[in-house]
Amino acid sequence: MKIAIVGTGFTGLSCAWHLVTKGCEVTLFDARGIGCGASGIAAGLMHPYVGEESKRSLHADEGMQASLELIQVAEEKLKESVARRGGILRLSSDAEQRERLLEYSKQFGDIEPLDESRFWIKSGVTVDSPRYLKGLWEALVDKGVKLIIQEISELQTLNGFDHIVVAAGAGVAQFPELSDLKYSLLKGQVLVCQAPEGIELPEKSSVCKGYIALTQEKERCIIGSTYERTFSDSLPDRALTEQTLFPKTALLFPDVEKLHVLECKAGVRVCRKGHYFPLVGKIQDGLWVATAMGSRGLLYHGLIGKQLAEALVSGNNFTISSNP
Ligand SMILES: Cc1cc2nc3c(=O)[nH]c(=O)nc-3n(C[C@H](O)[C@H](O)[C@H](O)COP(=O)(O)OP(=O)(O)OC[C@H]3O[C@@H](n4cnc5c(N)ncnc54)[C@H](O)[C@@H]3O)c2cc1C
Repeated sequence: MKIAIVGTGFTGLSCAWHLVTKGCEVTLFDARGIGCGASGIAAGLMHPYVGEESKRSLHADEGMQASLELIQVAEEKLKESVARRGGILRLSSDAEQRERLLEYSKQFGDIEPLDESRFWIKSGVTVDSPRYLKGLWEALVDKGVKLIIQEISELQTLNGFDHIVVAAGAGVAQFPELSDLKYSLLKGQVLVCQAPEGIELPEKSSVCKGYIALTQEKERCIIGSTYERTFSDSLPDRALTEQTLFPKTALLFPDVEKLHVLECKAGVRVCRKGHYFPLVGKIQDGLWVATAMGSRGLLYHGLIGKQLAEALVSGNNFTISSNP
């Protein structure tokens, strides 16, 4: 079966991996190149307790497992680590959240209270997103997957393929075939920072209202993120981002303003309306979509790619309405 996938972020590469390992012939199309959308700038936090309220995400264990399998594929290809294991710290922001997290710690083995306000998400992983995408892409090349750098403005141009999978992130908005999907776009910005001499970063990536994601480089971290519902472009605005993020992250790291800001990066998330679970499934014969990963791109991309590939190859009628 010949498959065209539009988009080479976490979602497109995951779909490609699962389809090619099931014997499909896969061609990727991207307007700009591997990981040039939101995935390339994602801070890398991967854990089940995403969001301000830190409720445990649906299918969290399957999601983590499927993504970790892909991370391993990238690491085996690059022969180096692309992620920091060892957990993520979650600071509870109020009594209600603390109670909820305490309850989770009794029910699930992956979170543990450390003191009055801090919880250790033991399963948490911080992924080096660009390095991970590079490794997964190189593993796909070994499997014969091809990449064509081309903006797809009309899906009919891909009619020579047996199936088309649209994994175009915010680019999904341009295809009339997908106009019934219910989602909103949310701009996000992060600051890539360097700790000057004498300032030590926290030992673990840490999350509260803002977050600090550690990187593979010892003195470097990513401070995130903004959640901008109205925006006129997707360009970085460093002054606004510093103004928004420094107060949000000071609780996690009081020295945050002493960090040197190396770069401000911006991207656009696609968020499903009414639920956070991604929009994945068949739109019509031969046309599939996988989008709306929201802030859970890392948690869900492995699982979504797997579900889509299984349905496509087995001929299941896997529509979006069969998801939450
Ligand atoms: C600032 C920020 C920080 C984030 N941090 C995290 C985090 O720590 N953890 C986490 O899990 N998630 C995080 N996210 C969310 C995560 O980045 C997204 O959920 C995820 O990247 C979505 O992946 P995707 O593959 O669906 O889309 P994208 O990565 O956006 O990929 C879409 C691709 O499609 C291509 N494309 C679009 N239209 C076309 C077209 N017409 N023709 C050809 N190609 C096209 C684009 O060039 C792009 O490469 C963050 C998001 C932002 C904005």
